[in-house]
Amino acid sequence: MFRLANSIKQRTITALLLLAMAIPFSPPAVAQSTPPAASKSFAKPKLVVLLVVDQMRGDYVDKFLGQWTGGLKRLVEEGAWFRDAAYPYAATETCVGHATISTGAFPATHGMVANAWWDRKEQKMVTCTADPDPSVKNIGYAGATPKGADTAWRMAVPSFAEELKFQTSGGTRIVTFSLKARAAITMAGHKADAATWFDGGAWVTSSPYGTLPFIEEQAKSHPAKADFGKTWSLSLPESAYWYDEKAVGAVPPEGWNLTFPHPLRGKSGVGEPDSSFYEQWASSPYADTALTELAEKAVDALNLGKAAGTDFLAVSYSSVDYVGHEFGPRSREIQDILVRLDKDLGGLFAHLDQKVGRGNYVVALSADHGVVPIPEDMQKTGADAGVLHLPEVQERIEKALEPFNYAKPAVARISGSDIYFAPGVYDKLQQDHAALQAALDAALAQPGVAAIYRADELRDRPATQSPAHRAFANSYFPGRSGDLFILPKPYWLMDGTPIGKQRSYGTGHGVPYNYDQHVPVLLMGFGIQPGQYFQPITPADIAPTFAALCGITLASRDGHALAQALKKPAAPRAPAHPAQAKSVSASALSKNP
Ligand SMILES: [Zn+2]
Repeated sequence: MFRLANSIKQRTITALLLLAMAIPFSPPAVAQSTPPAASKSFAKPKLVVLLVVDQMRGDYVDKFLGQWTGGLKRLVEEGAWFRDAAYPYAATETCVGHATISTGAFPATHGMVANAWWDRKEQKMVTCTADPDPSVKNIGYAGATPKGADTAWRMAVPSFAEELKFQTSGGTRIVTFSLKARAAITMAGHKADAATWFDGGAWVTSSPYGTLPFIEEQAKSHPAKADFGKTWSLSLPESAYWYDEKAVGAVPPEGWNLTFPHPLRGKSGVGEPDSSFYEQWASSPYADTALTELAEKAVDALNLGKAAGTDFLAVSYSSVDYVGHEFGPRSREIQDILVRLDKDLGGLFAHLDQKVGRGNYVVALSADHGVVPIPEDMQKTGADAGVLHLPEVQERIEKALEPFNYAKPAVARISGSDIYFAPGVYDKLQQDHAALQAALDAALAQPGVAAIYRADELRDRPATQSPAHRAFANSYFPGRSGDLFILPKPYWLMDGTPIGKQRSYGTGHGVPYNYDQHVPVLLMGFGIQPGQYFQPITPADIAPTFAALCGITLASRDGHALAQALKKPAAPRAPAHPAQAKSVSASALSKNP
């Protein structure tokens, strides 16, 4: 506690110093060899950097800040920290969160309603990035031959990066990296100079995106394979860890025990990298480091931030998500991987300072969703917590509809919160009130179910005082979303594991409670006024903030520019009275200790 208090004090002093230095504001000088005439009137960042930490809960910053010394600490101390940022929708999943950050819109607008949903026409599950166009193909670097075809064609609005490239001179380079296709693709948009993800031990992209020589070179050096045989050990003294050595209810990857150290040697512990090794690698800090290296190489190889336009670089760090699913949020593994990520980000920012120049780039860091504690762990507190078995909900609905003569199966699929009926069934149920009520009552009888919403209650985002109702409406996209929606009770994990089988993971996310919705939003660099901000905001505000800094317009947005954290350019003729400006800032700061 002492360390944390001390760090807050230091932070306040640093923030005060920064504020004093920043008033009155003059935009950083931008060196350009042949600046377009328009740029004289309005300075823009040379590089926009978007960092997403998959499954990073908002409270991880509050809890672990005192142990960070690198990039995460710098974002808090030198940047704008929005302490009450949360997704206002129900579908708190990876594809949805990344698309929201990237577009500035909610899923009701951008259409990425889940990582995967039931395609009513095809009568099968489709992933958010699966592209049925036969001319589209995934492409492997370093000779890899990946399966599938992944693009952003299902994302109904352009990304901020696409808009930036289109609306400015076209000189914007768009480069994104993640272990996951649904992150790299949604951050980039429909086309990009490079959108790169990791699949089956190889770095891959797909045909609408470019392939770049520096990625080929990096892929050929096999950074993942090179980590075979390494061991993930605790990086801080044991006394620094908050939680027990063994996380309750954890399900580690094959080949790992419940306790540190975690060796990266695959299933057998000897020989060559196998699929278990790649699972271990993705669940370790080494994968974060590989992504950071790729980002730094992109800056060097493409001279990002050095051309006439504003470039865009995005990295989604996937490993916190894998670790969180396996070990839960109350684990030494989560705490340690964040300590490692903090170091990596410190290195990345130092690299950007050197290559692009401090103050010439703007960074936003956020997360796509949070995570619920492992239910078995939460139950120890005596709180109402448990597992909501989705296949049992399906069984109950089928049984309830038996007396009403519906063809079996009446339910085509339950995927997360979304219940999809077989073709024609929901239309019929809407005219058949007794049968619909029987189905709703059956679902409500399942342990852990708090409420069921119907699609017709969610269309066109009706005004409502209920946060859960509004959250489902913000997630609802006609045609893709389900017919009915399950709201679990708080701390009840929705689980799709078939009846009679063991759950193969520790915990998850995807519901409209604050543990899944609350994420960090940190902004730093060009045009950003440092400080702590307590106004409730959403991650959909990031893209409009970038748009404001770059002087472009987003077509369809649900977010708003975070004006409170933007530096106000000094008026050209009547500069702000320094004393007045200082007193305003000091009082603003005192509200946010
Ligand atoms: Zn995620």
